[in-house]
Amino acid sequence: MPAVRLHRAGPVGVRDLRVDEVPMPRPGPGEVLVEVVAVAIGSVDLTVVEGTAHRVGPTPMILGREGAGIVREVGGQAGDWREGDPVALLAVRACRRCPVCLAGRDNLCPRSQLPGMDHDGLLATHVLAADTDLVPLPSGSSPARAAIVPDTVASAYHALKRVGVGEGVELTVVGLGAVGCYAVKLATLAGCRVVGVDPDPDARRAGLDAGADEVRDTGDVDDLGTDRAVVCTHEASAIGLAVGAVRAGGRIAVVASEPALSALSGADLVAREIDLIGSFAATASDVGELVDLVDDGRLDLTHPASATLTLEEIPGHLAGASPSRVVATPSSTPAQRE
Ligand SMILES: [Zn+2]
Repeated sequence: MPAVRLHRAGPVGVRDLRVDEVPMPRPGPGEVLVEVVAVAIGSVDLTVVEGTAHRVGPTPMILGREGAGIVREVGGQAGDWREGDPVALLAVRACRRCPVCLAGRDNLCPRSQLPGMDHDGLLATHVLAADTDLVPLPSGSSPARAAIVPDTVASAYHALKRVGVGEGVELTVVGLGAVGCYAVKLATLAGCRVVGVDPDPDARRAGLDAGADEVRDTGDVDDLGTDRAVVCTHEASAIGLAVGAVRAGGRIAVVASEPALSALSGADLVAREIDLIGSFAATASDVGELVDLVDDGRLDLTHPASATLTLEEIPGHLAGASPSRVVATPSSTPAQRE
């Protein structure tokens, strides 16, 4: 089967990505073979191809962090999965047996593997997954729409749960890329008043479209005094900016996977008793809750920045400088596309 593999990470001109022919995997006990309908590719994938990600496995490695598809073959003792079931594929593959997993914090499992970072990911026509790494989608729903849920949307959702949101909470969202815009949407849904912050006017417009009550440039946040903030960008100044945006006693969750801490004022953090907390990816139950929100029609998954590319177009796209967020469609029969 064709698969997009990273042969060498590095800057533009050095990185080497190819569409390779690899053996079709077969499911063993507890495993399920999924035909990949759509893979969402964003900033984390870019850190992998640049070689700046905090964890990267041996190459050549199939890329692709998050996506969705259709069950095609079920191994022995692999739960109740049936051929034809639409599923989302979890972006954190946890053991589900250790004390951390049993406490419901499977995103922090010490034995977890991240597809497309630690080992082969989803950018192929088919992928093998443990039966516990799948989240069922409503029957008849489109896997193409759900591709962005397991990591991009779920990371925003998990961060909001970490920081605490609800009716009447005032929240600053720093960084209005895809994760930030979903943080805006989900926080609005939870009843927050949301202020989006980004230096880019197009991103601020996207923040307003996502439902932000107000958007601001990065130089204009010190009088905000919101209860909480989430940081959804790797920009070096972002955490310091969030510290300035929250009131004394406020709380900040940092979502960005490779955050820069250089601009942080420790004195400001201590004297104003700011709680600064990390938020890593998402749990399996976060993803399940989001699938329910989408199914209920309460969460709209359209994001304006997503172009659709075939598997063959992905290496050229990721080889360039600052590739945009796209959705790849590895197995593209017309019936499976929207
Ligand atoms: Zn575990």
